[in-house]
Amino acid sequence: MRTGANLPAVGEYNQTLVLDLIRRAPEGLSRVELSARTGLSAQTLSNVTRRLADEGLIAEAGKVISGPGKPRTLLKLEPRSRFAVGVHLDPVVDTIVVVDMAGDVVAHDEIPRRHGAAPAELIDDVRAAVDRIVAEAEIPRELVLGVGVAAPGPFDARGGRLLDPPLLPAWHNVHVREDLGAATGLPVIVEKDVTAAMVGEMWFDRSDALTDAMFLYYGAGVGLGVAIGGAPVRGRTGNAGGIAHVVVDPDGPACECGSRGCLGVSIEPRTLLAEAGYVPAETGDTRPDLDRLVRDAAAGGTRAGDVLRRAGERIARALVVTNNLLDVDEVVLGGPVWERLSEVLVDTVSARVTSDPVSTATRAITVRLSRVGADVAAVGAACLMLDGAFAARPARMMIAI
Ligand SMILES: [Zn+2]
Repeated sequence: MRTGANLPAVGEYNQTLVLDLIRRAPEGLSRVELSARTGLSAQTLSNVTRRLADEGLIAEAGKVISGPGKPRTLLKLEPRSRFAVGVHLDPVVDTIVVVDMAGDVVAHDEIPRRHGAAPAELIDDVRAAVDRIVAEAEIPRELVLGVGVAAPGPFDARGGRLLDPPLLPAWHNVHVREDLGAATGLPVIVEKDVTAAMVGEMWFDRSDALTDAMFLYYGAGVGLGVAIGGAPVRGRTGNAGGIAHVVVDPDGPACECGSRGCLGVSIEPRTLLAEAGYVPAETGDTRPDLDRLVRDAAAGGTRAGDVLRRAGERIARALVVTNNLLDVDEVVLGGPVWERLSEVLVDTVSARVTSDPVSTATRAITVRLSRVGADVAAVGAACLMLDGAFAARPARMMIAI
């Protein structure tokens, strides 16, 4: 626990800490258990829990008898006390979700896309989508904490501005935080999509065991979300996690960087479909053909099977090389393209990560699928808003223990 901070800041910290513990315990926690876990005195804890209850964030939920003494009153999260909106700007499809305080998705939609739209129109489309999803979910606007936006890098973390996302040219130099904030009247935070995905996964890890981990995010682009010591690694400018140019296959396709077989170009949907001999769809939408590739492989198609096995080996090599650098416990696999290919890729990736000859890991690394699913970046962005809002709400700053 931090020390030497002034009293209001300590009070705020204690509330966040207690709320987080209660959030992670769906069965509820008693004040005695909370005191034991936080080291807070009974009096302080009583003040903290009363304020959380006053704000409607937690509620008493029955009593339990354990051992001698008075029955203990359980405190539980009030999931529907606050909400956050999450938006994922993606080259293929923009997703919007509303999550409650438990991080559960209570509404999901896609944002219609206009081609050739100016930045102001793009912002207005997102604003309209936010208004629509909040209204349709019948959530009182005052319970919405804000909007978290996940987008491919590079972005300017300090200014909340997308710089030049290679796969989202229309969003070049758009001040998302400022402009969307003005349009919606809500606080807005912007995060790199891979980092948002890592945060989303950590939010759903109720055991709090996901401390040193990587999230391989496989969408239209590929990137790595990283957590070390239980905190997401953003880097100095918020753009950490670029692994697209890690060379994974010396015989792989040529990359724009001048190398061959970089991860990004080697597992790009278009590359896989070309390797499988498919003719590109005129719409540019690779999703139906990716589904066909999986079906062909599952039906015993040798070429499709070879393409996907090689893709799995390429992904595994990138994970091994990165893990040699970071030495984490767990690898989580997810993202919209991963979700489509998962059933045929996961065994190859898992097997190779644990057996790759260049691995320096001295303990088996756990490879598993995202618990959140295809919307993980949008959900993670919303969870960031839940996190951020609780640490920085002005009303909370005024309360002293
Ligand atoms: Zn490259």
